[in-house]
Amino acid sequence: MFTRMLKLRLLNAVAPAYFFTATAVTFILHFGFFIPTIFPSQGTSLEGSKVLHTVIFLFLMFNALGNYIMTIKYPAESANETVIPVCSPHCSDKVDAHYLLNGRHFCKLCKKVILKRDHHCFFTGNCIGNKNMRYFIMFCIYTSCTCLYSLVLGVAFLTVEYSISFENPLTFLTLLPFSTGYFFMGTISGLQLFLVLMLYVWLGIGLVCAGFCCQQVLLVARGQTWCQMQRGQLAENRNPWRANLKDVFGTRWILGLILPVQTVETCSEDADVHKQD
Ligand SMILES: [Zn+2]
Repeated sequence: MFTRMLKLRLLNAVAPAYFFTATAVTFILHFGFFIPTIFPSQGTSLEGSKVLHTVIFLFLMFNALGNYIMTIKYPAESANETVIPVCSPHCSDKVDAHYLLNGRHFCKLCKKVILKRDHHCFFTGNCIGNKNMRYFIMFCIYTSCTCLYSLVLGVAFLTVEYSISFENPLTFLTLLPFSTGYFFMGTISGLQLFLVLMLYVWLGIGLVCAGFCCQQVLLVARGQTWCQMQRGQLAENRNPWRANLKDVFGTRWILGLILPVQTVETCSEDADVHKQD
């Protein structure tokens, strides 16, 4: 158990570093390579497209990073509880959290009591629960969109700069093994191999985030958390799905879709949970 905890702590430190590195690399590739190559400044007819693509990319990036910051800024912890439960050797709870009551958990990584805990996110380094679930879902949506958008521009860049054709659907299956072989034979540059690798990174992150986001929205609509699903517990409330979504996304949810701002009043939830005890 000690080794597994050590691995989780290491992951908690490495994952945010990976996120910031991938964000910086994506930013540099967009403004250093993709935009100047795909939309050269000589052609005035492409000036409008260049501005449009720059605005779309900055909008996606702003929302992804904004919701990332909001997920950390509004943690799901309980301000009133300082209890630190000690797990017995036979404790059936998962290693990263100890179940308390009413959806409250003591997260062993955050070392805090978390309200309506869903899971511990290693990329943000904190727990996802009652207050930051909306920001987390929006973070997943915009990260997925940014990655898939970068994938499209990356494909366009490789086509324009290196004349690689993506007309054949099998190109994506053979691109990485062929590029790796050509790199070791000295036929292609390290930058080209790195760009090909980034296409797979964007595709992977984009699809994983999109799938994870769909699952979280379904859980929210059912009024259930990931922790409850893993423990085989049914939803505590039997509210209709619209009410459950409104609880998390707030009444001004349309504003929340386009800007990383607070759309729901959450300050009374701490008191609500204690009332249920
Ligand atoms: Zn945690």
